[in-house]
Amino acid sequence: HAKYLGRNGFHFYSQTLHRQSRSRFQLANLLQNALVRGELHLFYQPKVHLASNQICGVEALLRWFSPELGGVSPADFIPLAEDMGLIDQIGDWVLEAAVRQAKEWSEAGTPLNIAVNVSARQFQRGDVAVRVLSLLARYQLEPEWLSIELTETSFLHSPEKTRVAIEQLTAAGVKVAIDDFGTGYSSLSYIRTMSLHQLKVDISFIRHLAESERDRKLVEAIIAMAHALDLEVVAEGVEDAEQLRLLAEIGCDQAQGYQICRPAPPESLIEWLLQR
Ligand code: C2E
Ligand code: MG
Ligand code: MG
Ligand code: MG
Repeated sequence: HAKYLGRNGFHFYSQTLHRQSRSRFQLANLLQNALVRGELHLFYQPKVHLASNQICGVEALLRWFSPELGGVSPADFIPLAEDMGLIDQIGDWVLEAAVRQAKEWSEAGTPLNIAVNVSARQFQRGDVAVRVLSLLARYQLEPEWLSIELTETSFLHSPEKTRVAIEQLTAAGVKVAIDDFGTGYSSLSYIRTMSLHQLKVDISFIRHLAESERDRKLVEAIIAMAHALDLEVVAEGVEDAEQLRLLAEIGCDQAQGYQICRPAPPESLIEWLLQR
């Protein structure tokens, strides 16, 4: 895949999409075919435990390598998939691919927890948890090797279905994380009432950590609140050593970002892990 990756991975796609004269319908068609033609892949980005420097798991990040469009970023095609009614199909594919990969790693003696992003639209359907649990059964994967990441938007759009799904997942032993924490319509009530495992603090709070005392205080406050409620805190988008040092200093549990490792295909990730 290296030839598609570019310096920042997927920076060129948005121009590609926007310069296109293709209609959204044509794009949706290409996306639907992408699934069939095997143009979708999962990359994996590790999360590191700051106190021990151990890898605690990886996040699965969807990649679309289109012969027509080049590398297309999920930030662009996931919203399209949601609007065009393709997200359930794609989401199912992602879940199965991640469960299959987790099983493979587990059998190879290098078990790793894989976190899968599930969009608000998928929670609207009301059977996400059931689908996840039947995949675990089908692949005979221990639930501890799977996590689900959802955003605050899910609570906004379908609070009841999301709440039920989370209860079913955590009861079965699947970990649940709130992604992009702090950027959504944060009603803290879901934190009060649900059994969650992790808060992933959005990159926007991490970006200016070194320069902004205000941001540092805010992240410290999030960590204090999370720890009081037995939640782990993961910092997203850590891009330099100073951010990493500060996060360790203020007691953040885990970090993820280019400073540690970029999202990579599974073979490269394992190579990176072994060299570490
Ligand atoms: P996310 O779940 O919050 O994922 C984190 C994003 O930050 C990823 O972008 C990742 O590549 C990027 N990132 C990681 N480290 C750094 C860093 O140090 N600096 C910066 N600037 N960025 C960093 P990506 O892969 O483009 O994904 C974007 C979003 O698309 C994800 O945000 C997630 O919301 C969504 N997404 C990705 N894969 C899936 C999927 O399989 N299903 C669904 N529903 N959504 C997905
Ligand atoms: Mg995520
Ligand atoms: Mg995020
Ligand atoms: Mg995000």
